[in-house]
Formats: sequence, structure tokens, C-alpha cells
Amino acid sequence: MGDGLTRTDFLIAGGGLAGLYLAYRLEQAGIDYLIVEARSRLGGRVLSVPASDTDSQTDQYDLGPAWFWPGQPRLQHLVNELGLRVFPQNSDGNLVFQDREGTIQRDLQYSTMAGSLRVSGGFGCLTEGLSRRIPTSKILSGQKVTKLSLSRHGVRTTIQGDDREAEIGSSTVALAVPPRLAAQSIEFEPALGKDAINAMRSIPTWMAAHAKVVAVYDAPFWRDAGLSGDGISQRGPLVEIHDASPATSTRGALFGFVGVPAPIRNSGNYDLAHMAVEQLTAMYGSKAAQPVTVLVQDWAREAFTAAKDDENEQLQQHPEYGTPPSLTHLWDGKLCLASTEMAPTFGGYLEGALETAESVATKITRNRRS
Ligand SMILES: Cc1cc2nc3c(=O)[nH]c(=O)nc-3n(C[C@H](O)[C@H](O)[C@H](O)COP(=O)(O)OP(=O)(O)OC[C@H]3O[C@@H](n4cnc5c(N)ncnc54)[C@H](O)[C@@H]3O)c2cc1C
Repeated sequence: MGDGLTRTDFLIAGGGLAGLYLAYRLEQAGIDYLIVEARSRLGGRVLSVPASDTDSQTDQYDLGPAWFWPGQPRLQHLVNELGLRVFPQNSDGNLVFQDREGTIQRDLQYSTMAGSLRVSGGFGCLTEGLSRRIPTSKILSGQKVTKLSLSRHGVRTTIQGDDREAEIGSSTVALAVPPRLAAQSIEFEPALGKDAINAMRSIPTWMAAHAKVVAVYDAPFWRDAGLSGDGISQRGPLVEIHDASPATSTRGALFGFVGVPAPIRNSGNYDLAHMAVEQLTAMYGSKAAQPVTVLVQDWAREAFTAAKDDENEQLQQHPEYGTPPSLTHLWDGKLCLASTEMAPTFGGYLEGALETAESVATKITRNRRS
């Protein structure tokens, strides 16, 4: 075509779990593709980090997803394929309950997450494992997609790095980006129909308004006191607490979801780390006052996860996700959406990211064969 454009057959915008898994499937099918990822790291909402940059231990703590569940077949299969170790969420011991006034009960024989499964080393091992199976030449990170233009030959994608813009031509584009964020941050030429844009804007990004605090300790001391690590608080700032201890070290960790809505916690001088440690000390005893470190991740502040409208929607239940009819055949099939929010069965979950990616990969490989 001689227009000097970089070309690929299939452009994947977004290197979260959905984008990476889609790439992995295309790699296996021998189809040409390129991932364009806005952040300098891969994984998107999957984020596992060490206690600190200088920590001598190799433990990683999940600041995004922490669990998957029996009955999620794709995830189980992928975990096996990548040779990752799975272990059960700790559920031995009592739950701690804190009421609005701060009164504590430690004798509740109830587990909120029994049966949930964790990945040793954190879910970052999943996205790292996938990215290791994708040639580095097929990943452009630190480059955000800013514009998609329908052209005679397919789609022209404008990408923007630190200091320059470039264009990539492809026959098809998969937006493995939360749909609400895509509607807010990507220009479409010609503009998508009203129904499509309204549908994209109306789909909340799962967990985008949430924040998580992980307190890391020398040991899981609460277990010695007959506590599982599970906690429920009506007082906060943490409203739901769980054991997040690594599988392979002597360290212990507690993580909590923050109940303070994003607009409030991000408007004032909220010292979440300090407040969380005070609360954990009240609930789990004086040893909780001495963490090795406290990790705070506020997803509402992440420009490549949360759209503006997500900030006010701290969802507690999975909405009904799936791909609405107005988003099923965009630009004659040259543009498709591929984040977890598009998954009909497991929308919002990690399994949903795999479900959507698998469905897109199956369509592409089938089309190539016919
Ligand atoms: C705190 C928290 C807890 C969770 N807990 C669980 C759990 O326990 N179990 C579970 O199953 N699920 C959980 N989830 C949900 C799970 O993380 C998601 O379902 C999954 O990671 C979504 O993957 P994705 O690839 O669809 O989207 P994302 O991970 O959001 O990936 C989208 C990617 O697109 C990139 N991007 C955005 N804009 C652009 C652009 N313009 N150009 C290029 N790239 C762009 C982003 O940087 C990102 O890498 C949790 C999520 C959070 C935040």
C-alpha cells in the first residue's frame, strides 16, 4: 500500500489480562498482531508488588485481584498451563467484627471467603507468565491509543508516547480497554453511533472506584490468636478485611477494601495508611501497630483504569455485563471491544477477561480459515 505506515494485521489496545491473553492466543494461531499499552507496565488491573523496592524478600502482594474461584475453567486451565501454584484463601479461625461505635467482636465463627483460591506469588505471575510467551517486539508499552480512524484498508490507530505521535495500520482493532474509559479517552473517526457511545459510557468499570490497603507484617500473628484475618467493619476506613499472607514465606499480611468513597478520600488529607493501621490495631491487637510496610492502591486515581464517571460508582455487586447489540459489529467488524466488561458470563472477573479474549480470538481464527 506504500504509505509508510507501520502495519500489523491485528492491533490490540491494552495489555491487561484480556489483551495479553488475546495476544497469546493469536501468537499460538500464527496471526500477526501488536499490543499497544498505555502504561509502562503490563497487567492493567492485575498488580502484584513487593513490600518495597529494596525489600530482601521476594514476596508479592496483590493490589488488584486476589482470588479466583472453582468453576472458572479458563483461569484454572491457564494457571495450570503457566505452571503456577494455587493455594486456598486462609479461612481457619474467627472473623472480627467492628460496629459503628468501634465495639469489637472476635468470636464470630464465620468465613467470608472460604473456598476462594489465590495464586502463589500473586496474580502478577499470571500476566508475567503470559507476557513471557509473547515476543517483546509485539508489545509497545508506554504508548496510549488516542484515535482510531476507519480507512479503506482497515483501521488507522494513532498512538502517543512521551514526546511523539505515530500511526499504525491494521485490518482490525480490539479495544481491550474498559469501554467507559475508551469512550472518554479515544477519538473515533467517523464518530461511533450514539447508541454505541452511550452503551460504552453506561458500562461501569469493575472495581475502578475502589482502593485497597495491604499491611505487611513479620508474621501472621492473628492466626495464633484464633483469627482467620477476615474482618467486617461498619466504622472503616477498611470495611472488608482478609488475610493476604504470602504462601511461601513467614511473613503475614492483611488487606482491606476502603469504604470511604473515592471523591471523599481523594478530596482531603486522608492518610489511609495511618488510619488503616489504627483500625487494624483496634481489631487485631497491638501487634498490628507494627507493620513492615503498608501498601495503598487507589484505583480511582489511575487514569488508565478509571473513567471520570467511575469515581462515583463504588459498586458492591457485579452488574450484568456482556456485549450489548450496539457494540457487537462496529465498523463492519473491524473494531471490537475486548475487556472483561464485555464478558456475558464472568463479566468483571479475571475469568471474564479470558472469556472475552477467547471469544475474539476464536472469531478471528475462524475468519482466517474461511
Ligand atoms: C481492587 C480490585 C480487586 C479485584 N479483585 C478481583 C478478584 O479477586 N477476582 C477477580 O476475578 N477479579 C478481580 N478484579 C477484577 C479484575 O482485576 C479484572 O476483571 C481484570 O483484571 C480486567 O482485565 P482487562 O484486561 O479486561 O482490563 P484491564 O486490566 O483494565 O486492562 C486494560 C488495559 O488497557 C490499558 N489502557 C487503558 N487505556 C489505554 C489506551 N488509551 N491505550 C492503550 N492502553 C490503554 C490499561 O493500562 C490496561 O493495561 C479486581 C479488580 C480490582 C481493581
